[in-house]
Amino acid sequence: MIPVKPRYPATPRYLVPFHRKRVPHFFTDVLVIGGGLAGLRAAIQIDPTLSVLVTTKEEVRESSSAYAQGGIAGVLDPGDRFEDHIDDTLTAGGSLCDRAVVEQVVREAPERIEELIRWGAQFDYAGEQLALGREGGHGRQRIVHARGDATGKEIVRTITGQVRKRENIDIWEDTYTVDLLTLDGACRGALVWNPQHGKTMIWAKQTILATGGAGQLYRETTNPDVATGDGMAVAYRAGATLRDVEFMQFHPTVLYIAGGSRSLISEATRGEGAHLVDRHGHRFMAEYDPRGELAPRDVVSLAIVSQMERTRHPNVYLDLTHLEPERVRRRFPGIARTCADFNIDITREPVPVRPGAHYMMGGVEVDIEGRTTLSGLWAAGEVTASGLHGANRLASNSLLEALVFGTHAGRGATEAAAGMNNSYRALEVENPRVEPPSELLDLSDIRNSLKSLMWRSVGVRREAEGLADADENANHWARYVLARQFADPSGWELQNMLVIARLMIRAAIRREETRGAHVRTDFPEQDDRHWCRHTCFQRDREGEEFCR
Ligand SMILES: Cc1cc2nc3c(=O)[nH]c(=O)nc-3n(C[C@H](O)[C@H](O)[C@H](O)COP(=O)(O)OP(=O)(O)OC[C@H]3O[C@@H](n4cnc5c(N)ncnc54)[C@H](O)[C@@H]3O)c2cc1C
Repeated sequence: MIPVKPRYPATPRYLVPFHRKRVPHFFTDVLVIGGGLAGLRAAIQIDPTLSVLVTTKEEVRESSSAYAQGGIAGVLDPGDRFEDHIDDTLTAGGSLCDRAVVEQVVREAPERIEELIRWGAQFDYAGEQLALGREGGHGRQRIVHARGDATGKEIVRTITGQVRKRENIDIWEDTYTVDLLTLDGACRGALVWNPQHGKTMIWAKQTILATGGAGQLYRETTNPDVATGDGMAVAYRAGATLRDVEFMQFHPTVLYIAGGSRSLISEATRGEGAHLVDRHGHRFMAEYDPRGELAPRDVVSLAIVSQMERTRHPNVYLDLTHLEPERVRRRFPGIARTCADFNIDITREPVPVRPGAHYMMGGVEVDIEGRTTLSGLWAAGEVTASGLHGANRLASNSLLEALVFGTHAGRGATEAAAGMNNSYRALEVENPRVEPPSELLDLSDIRNSLKSLMWRSVGVRREAEGLADADENANHWARYVLARQFADPSGWELQNMLVIARLMIRAAIRREETRGAHVRTDFPEQDDRHWCRHTCFQRDREGEEFCR
């Protein structure tokens, strides 16, 4: 690894001061940070003789998992083959997937989906068989879904029900993880904060990070408010390696109504035959890719942005009006309802859409068992770079990843915790750094500026000049925001967003090629000779930052 140039402001080890004699302590065998699908699945896997604490930033139901629409990919049709799902995943991933990981996840998919059904998940059926949908990049129908486009709600309902039955698992909602606690090169738990107890030190034999993605770094995003990249930032400050953070997938079709919510319009609509048309009603996708509307997400997002530019219009349209109306309403009830709130009947009018940040392929580096590079720390789900998605995620593979890696991380943490002594002690970890109280900053102004900057310069298309401008601005903000201390999550979130945005920008500058979701208009070709490799960042104990 090479040290990062000193002009970058150093990332502090801990965001806030704390002293172990002055805060409450809590002890658990395994701490799970994050209560989306990955965290909850991990908690279920932990041996019932071990105590588990799950913490979530807001209520459990507030996660990307709960908003998932399209479904979960898996080979369940007798006519489908593991090899085909593996090939589709590798093709989307732009040569950066880890084949062994892809094979393992794809082969484990039916078991994980059948387990959900056993636990009571009500997926949609066509007669006696599961109704399987198709999405961009998949060569076959292989997506299980629930209540049309409410798959996330149904699986979160199912899995939360299982968690609540287990007496060894406690859930603390509205509890913000500020930082991981480390001593002697190992993770020992986390410093959390909630309004009732203030700062609390949670000591755990093993910790599992499952905090989801970072879509909130962008002005246009499908992600809920909780997706601010906290988990990546806390892991980075604690010394874990982050990988491939330049790869952010943009969902091509996000509802675009000024002042309205940026709701995702599922890819499954195109799987069912919806067309993309421009402001003149022209169906344009075939001019960009022979797969048309079913091309992978990066291709469709790029085509939409180009067509918006060509037609000088802020969006394109998704047209379902030629499809059978009853079927459209039955298959996409949630989307129909959301659009109806804006007086759009999706069976009669085209829906205005444009791309938005959707899924973070990069994150905390893990092996196939969910082990990070920091001893005692495991990770699962969107917070990770697991090797499944490479440079671009195949649709509906991420809920699957959360299930598979949640299971693995839970199993690994169980084995590691079971072999450790029952020693419950507040260790000598503290951060005495006390600085004068911060002057007031307009946090939402900086946050909005950062989101606009990321959208403009580190969005669907990137080039050197825009990235250099983003680098300069983000570093300028980081210099005074990271040096300050804040008393609640609004400040800590902004600090985490700046930490991750700076790494994303730097990685995007370094990768002088186009691969998967990373599109450099000044380097439009994939350059396998120099760039068929990962970008990694790590911070050492002295605070020096390295990248390779
Ligand atoms: C609108 C939408 C639709 C999608 N549709 C699909 C789909 O059809 N199929 C598919 O495969 N994928 C889909 N995805 C992606 C998929 O939902 C996510 O990748 C996946 O759910 C991530 O699960 P997770 O458990 O890793 O994170 P999440 O489900 O996002 O959970 C993160 C958890 O971490 C907690 N957290 C975050 N920060 C902190 C902190 N500082 N302290 C404490 N807790 C914290 C949050 O409170 C939350 O509980 C969709 C995503 C979105 C946004």
